[in-house]
Amino acid sequence: MTLHVLSVASEAVPLIKTGGLADVAGALPAALAPQGVKMTTMLPGYPAVLAAMKRARTVHTWPSLLGEPARLVAGRMDGHPLLALDAPGLFAREGGPYSDPEGRDWGDNWRRFAAFSRAAADVAGGAVAKLKFDLVHAHDWQAAMTLAYQRFAPFGGAKALPGVMTIHNMAFQGYFGAGIFPRLGLPDSAWTIEGVESYGGVGFLKAGMQAASVITTVSPTYASEIRRREFGMGLEGIVAAKGDAVLGILNGIDTALWNPAHDPHLTDTFTARTLPRRAANKRAVEAVFGLDHGDGPLFVMISRLTWQKGADVVIEVLDHLVGNGGRLALLGSGEKANEDAFHAAAARHKGQVGVRIGYDEALSHLMQGGGDAILVPSRFEPCGLTQLYGLAYGCVPVVSRTGGLADTVIDANPAALAAGVATGVQFDGVSYEALAAAVSRAVALYRQPDVWRQIRRNGMKCDFSWAASGKAYAELYARLITEKA
Ligand code: ADP
Repeated sequence: MTLHVLSVASEAVPLIKTGGLADVAGALPAALAPQGVKMTTMLPGYPAVLAAMKRARTVHTWPSLLGEPARLVAGRMDGHPLLALDAPGLFAREGGPYSDPEGRDWGDNWRRFAAFSRAAADVAGGAVAKLKFDLVHAHDWQAAMTLAYQRFAPFGGAKALPGVMTIHNMAFQGYFGAGIFPRLGLPDSAWTIEGVESYGGVGFLKAGMQAASVITTVSPTYASEIRRREFGMGLEGIVAAKGDAVLGILNGIDTALWNPAHDPHLTDTFTARTLPRRAANKRAVEAVFGLDHGDGPLFVMISRLTWQKGADVVIEVLDHLVGNGGRLALLGSGEKANEDAFHAAAARHKGQVGVRIGYDEALSHLMQGGGDAILVPSRFEPCGLTQLYGLAYGCVPVVSRTGGLADTVIDANPAALAAGVATGVQFDGVSYEALAAAVSRAVALYRQPDVWRQIRRNGMKCDFSWAASGKAYAELYARLITEKA
């Protein structure tokens, strides 16, 4: 029996991406197809999404969706069914999915994503006669209200489908003032702690968590960390109250896009057996970043430059890294102070530190294929993808022991080295001392070529493809549908 799942997300590769959510939402349909799950993805109709949907058909219209005329168009994304909500008043704008060209959040984000979720709940409830679903899978706060609408204001009185709420990052909760409540089109009964009310305002993610049959997050360690205040960020009480209904399923990586044996973005492709061919990629990275050659390791970092990602601590550690014979190539963008500090460090360490501020998918592949080690010193990390790409590309991850980083990297401690299973370097707590010590350990390991080669190969052997995660989601869906029946 084929299960039909409506996956509701605010971004998905290859159409629109700001972070890991897009990688996951884009990969899920193909990961689930072999498991007997037909997944339809629903996205907001941003200009980039509509432009990519050639020959799209209109399958539903709303004269007024939270006050906006809107229509639903159906098309395909990489061969899988795609729905987009074309509501020009909400989504036809220059800028990012959540912010204007200057990087400021759109002031009407609550309305944009409430409307998107209202539409998704209508679709789940049978608004389009030909589209029938068994389950709804909502991703992050932008889609979370789908589950709340299903529960409190279902389309045509339809019974709510089982709902999975996946949290890709607890730091983004979609919290708005109480003044928006009357404009959401929900009954007064939704204004409770079991509904959308959260600390006196409206919490979109919180509402989705309350209405969900199961809450998942993207690694087992993060699923247990969010029971604690520092990771739960105000929602730890709900996580704890949901008990066994909160679980972690690790993200996979899309091995069609991320495979060093076939990657068109690499100067030279390679496998675990042909590691010396990485050298051409390393030279290419050095050229892009204006770095001198050197016999020490080339560290890379590909990241949003934010507090979460520990960018400030990397800046502090740069003198130590360079002093130990390391070099750094950094690709990222984010908080202005961090960007400026990286530029200043690059000027101070000319030839040793190179910085590219911006977003560059192709360059990120080359850096994984040419770097010796990738720094991921996150203060919290729901899953993290860059360390997984690093493992696949022989770019050894140097990571803090948190969330998905703890679950995917095996620290090169003496026991793991003796057993031949180490895949990277882990450290506890994101501080100058801890990161500096981890960098020193990485440099020392790099200077033992046999050991370093073994660590690289161990990482490349790891299977973090979507197969295992796809199976886990399919089993979860099947369980929820059986329980409901
Ligand atoms: P998050 O979603 O919190 O930003 P993840 O590690 O889960 O972190 O995913 C980040 C994704 O975005 C990865 O695919 C990474 O390669 C990519 N990425 C981050 N910054 C850049 C950048 N400046 N240029 C290209 N890709 C980037």
